[in-house]
Amino acid sequence: PATTETKEFSAEVGRLLDLVVNALYSEREIFLRELVANAADAVDRRRFLGLTDPALALPADAGVIITPDKNARQITISDDGLGMTRDELVANLGTIARSGTRAFGETVQDAKPEERPSLIGQFGVGFYSAFMVSERVEVISRRAGSDEAWSWRSAGRGSFDVSPAERATPGTDIILHIKADADEFLEPMRLQTIIRKWADHISVPIKLVRDGKAEAANEGTALWRKPKAEVTPAEYEDFYRHLGHFFDKPWATLHWRAEGALEYSALLFVPEQPPFDPVEGERTSKVRLHVRRMFITDEAELLPPWLRFVQGVVDTEDLPLNVSREMLQTTPVMARIRKAVQNRVLTELKSKAKAEAKAETAPIAAEDEDAPAADPVTDGYIRFWESFGTILKEGLWEDAGARADIAPLLRFHSSTEDGWTSLADYVARMKPDQTAIYFLAGETIEQLRHAPVLEGYRARGFEVLLMTDSIDAFWPERMGSFEDKPLRNARQALADLGDAAEVPEALKPLIDAMTAALADEIAEVQPAAHLSESPVMLVSGTEGADLHMQKLLRRAGR
Ligand code: ADP
Ligand code: MG
Repeated sequence: PATTETKEFSAEVGRLLDLVVNALYSEREIFLRELVANAADAVDRRRFLGLTDPALALPADAGVIITPDKNARQITISDDGLGMTRDELVANLGTIARSGTRAFGETVQDAKPEERPSLIGQFGVGFYSAFMVSERVEVISRRAGSDEAWSWRSAGRGSFDVSPAERATPGTDIILHIKADADEFLEPMRLQTIIRKWADHISVPIKLVRDGKAEAANEGTALWRKPKAEVTPAEYEDFYRHLGHFFDKPWATLHWRAEGALEYSALLFVPEQPPFDPVEGERTSKVRLHVRRMFITDEAELLPPWLRFVQGVVDTEDLPLNVSREMLQTTPVMARIRKAVQNRVLTELKSKAKAEAKAETAPIAAEDEDAPAADPVTDGYIRFWESFGTILKEGLWEDAGARADIAPLLRFHSSTEDGWTSLADYVARMKPDQTAIYFLAGETIEQLRHAPVLEGYRARGFEVLLMTDSIDAFWPERMGSFEDKPLRNARQALADLGDAAEVPEALKPLIDAMTAALADEIAEVQPAAHLSESPVMLVSGTEGADLHMQKLLRRAGR
């Protein structure tokens, strides 16, 4: 028809399509996971918006229906979700230049085959996985609240067409014209297996049409509501992966039910590895909020930004189903749930940190020699610290109320110890005449170990903590002290080394000459009795930003 418009994919989308179709060929079955997840998201979004806008209200039997048709060689995935306007179809499925595209390409090339499916999800390139099994894809969508429907069609090469269409009710149909070599996906049995594997935990009802009848294909069990004793480790792991397309295992699983003043169930996970994050990601917690099983939103900020690596679900009885965005921000119930969930996470982290500290010092019993040793690097607290310590430290800077809870979780490299050490262990090793905890922040541990400024501390037998995260230039000053011992920047605490040397007469001409030569570069030249190996050292004044911080600020363009 004359109203059909043909549009080019944006360059990024075109590249993405090639990558998804070619690099992920061996994992083709995940197309169904991605399309069903999109459909279920659209239903969830419509339900949430329908709470405040009756024109969008969700029909009672809303869900997702998958219909394979062997004769026509097509699969249709229909949902009663929010749908898309014409402009949304064009933007979401054809032109949005996703900032992660290039990074995705590079990562996919390097990734092991079994890691690739999770990459698709992390990079938000799900829809295009339809082209792994389809020679053509057609989308018919009607946005809830509108009478207009639109169709989007493409063979996944270069361009797509958009034209007016018909749809009796709001929602979206994704029609896949299946490739000759993808016949297996026309079998209802095969589709059922994929749904069981990837989409069983989705709470939106998913139906599969088999012999003309639509049958429930997912259990939709709210796993978090089951008693802990009835959930197997494999079920926890499946659910974790489903939550955010994670491929690693959870490092910690927290599952509990609160009863009494507050009533909620929570199932939270701490991942093993940080997610691949091409654009630094959002700084907000994505823990999902449910009310009596129903998904409400993943923007309730159930945990503070410095615990944003925690994933999972909190499901409460204490909010109405039609809770609004404003209410989530203001209701005291949410504040109490947030506090309780945060405390629980911190308690778990503290007990894991403590367990590892014990394991390190415990003598190895002879009869244990044959037992498989727990690998402290992959299972222990340090595994967590290396993945998420940087994020956790943000809390020291921005959350005064949590500082005391975070302090025992901190681990550092140090000038005298191998591996990692805690603040408590540092304090236990302090020399009798040592009054402060010294630290030095910089680019790499190796560089810091050779910093001339350490010489004086070494000579006195004082240990110095070595720090290399950007945030380390900021939080120690805010935190101030640990167990009443002040945290002091080693570059600014040289006076603590008792260096009140008189300027020797013989040095004066040299100091004068250097002062004259460097007058525009530095504030002053001082003798330094605490240097034993290096001839000179650049230090910052005891006031203002230290050298490392100055470098960071310069880099940030201040
Ligand atoms: P992501 O789901 O990570 O955003 P996708 O490529 O899977 O990335 O989908 C792109 C976008 O297209 C979605 O964010 C959504 O806005 C829209 N979309 C895809 N499928 C549907 C659907 N069935 N109903 C409504 N919107 C959809
Ligand atoms: Mg998606």
